[in-house]
Amino acid sequence: MSFPEPGQLAVDNVRSLSPYVPGKPIEELERELGIRGVIKLASNENPFGPSPRALAAMHATLSDAWLYPDGSGHQLKHKLAAKLGVTVEQITLGNGSNDLLVLLAEAFLKPGLEAVYSRYAFAVYPIAVQAAGATGVVADALPPDSPMPLGHDLAAMKRAITPRTRIVFIANPNNPTGTYVPATALRRFIAEVPATSLVVLDEAYFEYAGGLDIQDGIRWLAEFPNLVVLRTFSKAYGLAGLRVGYAVSHPSVAGMLNRVRQPFNVSSIALAGAVAALEDDAHVSAAVSVAVAERVRVAARLRAMGTMSLPSAGNFLLLHAGPQAMNLFDALLRAAIIVRPVGNYALPEYLRVTLGTVEQNDRFLSAWQKILIA
Ligand code: PMP
Repeated sequence: MSFPEPGQLAVDNVRSLSPYVPGKPIEELERELGIRGVIKLASNENPFGPSPRALAAMHATLSDAWLYPDGSGHQLKHKLAAKLGVTVEQITLGNGSNDLLVLLAEAFLKPGLEAVYSRYAFAVYPIAVQAAGATGVVADALPPDSPMPLGHDLAAMKRAITPRTRIVFIANPNNPTGTYVPATALRRFIAEVPATSLVVLDEAYFEYAGGLDIQDGIRWLAEFPNLVVLRTFSKAYGLAGLRVGYAVSHPSVAGMLNRVRQPFNVSSIALAGAVAALEDDAHVSAAVSVAVAERVRVAARLRAMGTMSLPSAGNFLLLHAGPQAMNLFDALLRAAIIVRPVGNYALPEYLRVTLGTVEQNDRFLSAWQKILIA
């Protein structure tokens, strides 16, 4: 008698899922090629790392690691509420903002319901939606020759909304494209989404807006009760390894997320690090100003080499590498530089490059130049 592999007992919507493809870890490449000094510009991390204050606070809390964390995240929520001008009841903490995407899908979706997102939007949206057994509805993105190539097409997204739509995901700025939605158009869109659907505005890269026309969605919460804004400590705060993010929403939405949330979804070390990180605005703004200046400089240098990149409001650039993209990616690996292929986003001709320090970006640019003429 033959038995199916036990994994095949998983539910259909999970068996047919394509898993998330993470950036290649530095240690893996160093092991594979037997080299040192690899730089990773593949996961939109902040090369300046955590604030020294966050590091000290995390060290100080290590000896309490035998205790469960404060499951209500009291201190961090109070600090965030004061900083953002919202109430504590509006905040939900997550194990990264990714956790909140999953919790939102779990709480608001089920088979028969739909979620709308743009083509080329962040890869976790379809995963969370499908895992919840719901249907993802993909709205076509703006065409490559538009001023915001491959960006969210709000008109197409609006047309995709039906009475079955419970969540509309918008990443502003979006990953992997870096594109963004201007404030006035976004406000108009949110105002037109029926009250039967949440608008999840994912602002993971919000801090990098750098003078571009990007609205702080939290300011709109009072006006739009169905709006949920997501933020993270993984990017501008340089704490991706800690896994802390948060949602700001109507208190009733936070109440539902709290029902499905693991009681201790954010670790004590992460809570301590995030609280201290909020006290070091200078650290965040220093990292952000380098990224904002570098995205202009690196894009211009690439353009001069004949490589076009999309307009970006994030700490990364999506560049058009052409049909040879994977060969160029491999050549960069051999030059000890890890960037991110985005074939899993159906963008096989593009590579996503995180903006590192000026020195790291220079290393990438000179490797790129050599590879292009090789
Ligand atoms: N949203 C977007 C648009 C992202 O790019 C990412 C990280 N790549 C996340 C959410 C999740 O980040 P985290 O879980 O680290 O907060």
